[in-house]
Amino acid sequence: MDFVSGEILTKDGLRKGYIAFEKRKILEIGKGRPLKKPVCKGLIIPSIVNSHTHIGDSFIKQKKIKLPKNVEKLVAPPEGLKHKLLRKASDNDIIKGMEKSIDMMIKNGTKYFCDFRENGILGINQLKTALHLLKIKCLILSRPNSLEYDKKELDLLLKDSNGIALSSISDWDYSELKKVVKDTKDKKKIFALHASEIIRENIDDILDLKPNFLVHMIKASESDLTRVKEMNIPIVICPRANSFFGLRPDYKLLKKVKNDILIGTDNAMINSPIILEEIKYIRSVTKEFSILNLLYIVTYNARKALNLDCDILCPNSKADFIVLNKKSLKPLYVSDW
Ligand SMILES: [Zn+2]
Repeated sequence: MDFVSGEILTKDGLRKGYIAFEKRKILEIGKGRPLKKPVCKGLIIPSIVNSHTHIGDSFIKQKKIKLPKNVEKLVAPPEGLKHKLLRKASDNDIIKGMEKSIDMMIKNGTKYFCDFRENGILGINQLKTALHLLKIKCLILSRPNSLEYDKKELDLLLKDSNGIALSSISDWDYSELKKVVKDTKDKKKIFALHASEIIRENIDDILDLKPNFLVHMIKASESDLTRVKEMNIPIVICPRANSFFGLRPDYKLLKKVKNDILIGTDNAMINSPIILEEIKYIRSVTKEFSILNLLYIVTYNARKALNLDCDILCPNSKADFIVLNKKSLKPLYVSDW
């Protein structure tokens, strides 16, 4: 049996004590000092969830290409630079890049991530190859190869992934989009999309699609955010990626409206997929959220919103935790799982 000790971020807040664990299982959460010298001391939190990535473009970061700081020119399908580079890249380049990003996530305490997978069936297969044998779980949200509804393709995508995630309503003919959403919902799979990133998009059109969650909502008005809140739809913010494009979430407004926030790292070609870096960045630009708030968001809230196992940091649950240096947020210990 081993121990970690310090402060523990439980579902009900912070408490001092220790965790006793053995064979990847938590045996006890106790107060005071552990019976044996702990393997690590610090701030103990559940493993982290990265709620929004595109790790297929990791290989582009390694190419050291100068990227345009414009959403349309860089990431909008089908002609954004990223999509041109993805079409030209070999399977091997893409998969190796994904593996590097996954490895980085694991080392930094991320156990789950939710990827918006481009490139249709091929994109799903590339990600599954990269995930093979690695100790991480991924919600794969796939995307049709073109901006058109193709029933046959969609059936295959839905069969092989957890759902569909699209670039934005602005990229699609709305009637085509509705067909995609209907099939996704009929199969009881997840539907998500980027929304109001660089322009304010029509909130009625967005909400009529009944998305499971939205990403960005930078340009959303207070009334848009309120309606999203009323429908209990979480919003994933990706502040470092936004700042690359000169954009910034309205932290004050998100807090005022009490939106359910999740945190993602977005395109791996722009930033590392390390959520702890995202938290440090958020704290450097706003004091609206405390570090503990943010850590709670990327652990308990994200698990709840993405329907993951919420039974964590309690006796008989999996030893699914990390220990951080409370000041620097550096991971000191990542439990084996
Ligand atoms: Zn994105």
